[in-house]
Parts: sequence; structure tokens; C-alpha cells
Amino acid sequence: MSIEDSFPGATALAGGAGDFEAIAKIYLRAAEAMGAFAQAGGLTCPAGCGSCCERFIPDLLPIEAEWMAAWLIHHDPARALELALIGFGTHEREAATCPFFVASGPLHCGIYGGRGLLCRLFGYSALPDKEGRVAFALCAHMPSRASEARQWKGADIEGEFGALPPLMTDFAAELDALRPTEGQARRLLFDALPDALRRQYLRMNYGALAIDDDSGAVKAEAVLVLTARSADPRLDEGPELPLV
Ligand code: SF4
Repeated sequence: MSIEDSFPGATALAGGAGDFEAIAKIYLRAAEAMGAFAQAGGLTCPAGCGSCCERFIPDLLPIEAEWMAAWLIHHDPARALELALIGFGTHEREAATCPFFVASGPLHCGIYGGRGLLCRLFGYSALPDKEGRVAFALCAHMPSRASEARQWKGADIEGEFGALPPLMTDFAAELDALRPTEGQARRLLFDALPDALRRQYLRMNYGALAIDDDSGAVKAEAVLVLTARSADPRLDEGPELPLV
């Protein structure tokens, strides 16, 4: 059954189911590229480390925020509804960690399958330097290698790791290209996610599918959930990667 069979007009209301299929492909390719680099270079995060979620709040393109919102509606409808209604509180905005950081969980991220590109590629991707060369640095929490170097450029990266890391900017450009007019609309997760949730609920309400009048729970057939899950079920849990 297609999404349109379940909910005629869903594709248009969702801003295009193709957007979610496209973002799913980009995220999966990013994961594969990162995993290949990590495997080639024997790179891994220290056991139990979740330091990249401390003193850091990711920013998101609108399409990434929509993806995250759809994931949260499906996996934690009560939290999704709360964030849509009241947003993040001061205590979350002033906390030392991302609001989705889970200290005890194996992945440390409470929104793992919905997280944005920055979180997906952190620690295993490179950026171009001023001369356009690929530049890679070990995360401060990764142990030093035998060479004791912590930064490499160009061909030295391949010499050290046996492969080149994916460029964060390449995947970011692919995401930008999905909706070229929204490239400047990046916002912090604190602001982007509640607004994206509100938009999703609004769309779902237009389809008369969203919220049960009595319980306030989100109905399971909500179109954006179907869209996200149909894009690639592997994204429900996230790929197997040596990441937090
Ligand atoms: S969204 Fe997840 S991976 Fe990203 S900073 Fe927050 S807890 Fe960490």
C-alpha cells in the first residue's frame, strides 16, 4: 500500500514524500561513507563516550527538522506533542548537554534515527581547508594513533587511514539542494524542532489523522510517520556505526 492509498493528498501535504526519500538516501550514504572510513582507519569512539553531545546543540535545515519531527512523533508521541505545545524549557536550553542526550543509553542519543547530519558525521568526516584540501582532525576524545599526529591534510590522510573521510560539506550541499530556497534557514534544534512538529501536526490535522480527541495521542497512521518509515526502515534505529 502506498502513502497515497492511505491518505490521498499526503504527498502534497507532507511537502513531498520524495523529500523524505531523498533525505533518507543522503543519510544512508553518509553513514556508509563514514563507516567505510572508520573501518579502513580502525577509528572508533572511546567506549561509553558521549562527549560530542555536551556543550553542543546541533543546527538543522528545515527538512532535517521535519525528518526529526516525524521520527519523534513515531517513537515518542508524548514528547513530540509536549514539544509542539510548549517547546524546550529554560532548564533544557541552559543544560550542559543536548536535550536528547541519554547518559545511560548505548548510543547516548534519544533521537538517534532522527538526528541531523552534523550529529551523524561528527568525528568521522572532514572539511576543506583554505586551499581546498581535505582536512581531518581526530576528535579530542579519541586516543592518539601510533604516529601521534592528530591532524592530517590531503594525501597524508590516506597514508594514515588508508581511505579518505567523507566531506561534511558535500553531504550538507546535497541536503541544501533538496530545497535550495531554505539553505539560509538553518536554526538550532531548540527552535527548529518545535516549529517542525507544529507544522507536522497541522498537516496531519488537515488530513484528519493526527490526534485522538480524548487521549491526545497521535494516531498511528499519521502520514508523516508512514513517509519516514517507508523511506528506509533501517533509519528507525540508525545504522551500525562506531558512534555515540
Ligand atoms: S541530537 Fe543526539 S547525537 Fe546530536 S547532539 Fe543531541 S543527543 Fe547528541
